Amino acid sequence: MKAMQIQIPAELRGHSYTESPIRKIGLALFGVGVLVFMIGATGAFASIPLLYSMLSLGVGTIGALLAILPGIGARKPGINHDGIMFSPWKNRRSVAWLLGILITAFYVTLYWFPSTLDHMVVAFDPLSWPLRGKAADRWFLYGTLYTLAVLIMGVRMLIKYRHSRYQTIRTISVMFFQLVFSLLIPGLLQLFNEPEFYFHYFWPLKYDYLFPSKLSSLFDGTHLAVFMGFWTLVMAFLATPVLTYFYGKRWYCSWVCGCGALAETLGDPWRQLSDKSLTAWRIERWMIHSVLVFAVVMTGLLWLNSAMEGAVLGGLSRGFSRTYGFAIGAMFSGVVGVGFYPLMGSRVWCRFGCPQAAILGIIQRYFSRFRITTNGEQCISCGNCSTYCEMGIDVRAYAQRGADIVRASCVGCGVCSSVCPRGVLNLENGPVDTRNI
Ligand code: SF4
Ligand code: SF4
Repeated sequence: MKAMQIQIPAELRGHSYTESPIRKIGLALFGVGVLVFMIGATGAFASIPLLYSMLSLGVGTIGALLAILPGIGARKPGINHDGIMFSPWKNRRSVAWLLGILITAFYVTLYWFPSTLDHMVVAFDPLSWPLRGKAADRWFLYGTLYTLAVLIMGVRMLIKYRHSRYQTIRTISVMFFQLVFSLLIPGLLQLFNEPEFYFHYFWPLKYDYLFPSKLSSLFDGTHLAVFMGFWTLVMAFLATPVLTYFYGKRWYCSWVCGCGALAETLGDPWRQLSDKSLTAWRIERWMIHSVLVFAVVMTGLLWLNSAMEGAVLGGLSRGFSRTYGFAIGAMFSGVVGVGFYPLMGSRVWCRFGCPQAAILGIIQRYFSRFRITTNGEQCISCGNCSTYCEMGIDVRAYAQRGADIVRASCVGCGVCSSVCPRGVLNLENGPVDTRNI
């Protein structure tokens, strides 16, 4: 018997997007930009940094935007996640593994083989000189690529979630903080011979900001440096708990933080890969709180050591903080946290390792007014919310019971609400005593 063929209307197939000639040209240009950038490692462009910059960063950026922009016309506003389980780069298949290996290799090179990048950093000189008054280095290369990734993939987020006002404003927020607070302000501070400082990072995420050596160097510096010292203390001990009480951890994790910015933009295609099992939840709680304890103990010991003029740690104090920087700062937040996006989802670091998220999570779970309310009678159990929760929360299980969601790990990204076809989920700040879990 002849199999019946179902004709799907073209506008529902999404083919116009993937087959768009502009998108294909964009992907080709992006490939050319990446290729030129890689060739630069040989030193071929060392004497012509501006041309190298234009052919690699310029062409690559234009290509990426051309690949993304056709999505505006080709897809209607609304929930667009079709085909995600069949895509070889979104569902832990060959391309995903290749991407994971490439991103991981980049981090390994950045941390342990920096000389490989010596010739590539010149591509960033045309931006570094006017911004910082000096030549680019590997960290400026990293910061600029990071910011480009957030901005380009932020445009993709704005197109994809344009049906949601919350997602639109939140995405603009993370793009703004990454561009201004992570790249421009620290660069200008160096231009004016002030300490390099990131006003949107606080202890314990920026673990050295509360070290005795760092604070004393700030308080011994210029007026601006002293302000940075006060800013550090106020944000860590006052503003962070107060803001989290009122708004939950979302004010930071999904609106301000650079790690969150990358996860919400570059990491969005892989948010569905987060492990939803109870075992993962158990591991998550152990790991993230262990890192927090490590950060607190380390900071406390360094202060004790400083007060006792080195009698506690002796010459070990530098090695102590270096160990933390290597294990947590480099290995966990960089290599695993970003390199494993295509395999473990976009929030591996935020979920399993970030000590800042651990503190905010404790406040959110026990003291905050933030919660996600559910209108259980409207839930059709489709599971969209659980699938796209990047923190591995089984949102549907709460929705089916009509229970409020008050979880320490929830970063308030609001995607569960944005992908719900029934409007069941609402992110709210309300009286604490209405929670029911
Ligand atoms: S529960 Fe919803 S708001 Fe919270 S992290 Fe998951 S998707 Fe984001
Ligand atoms: S809350 Fe919404 S997205 Fe989640 S299972 Fe119910 S209907 Fe689906």
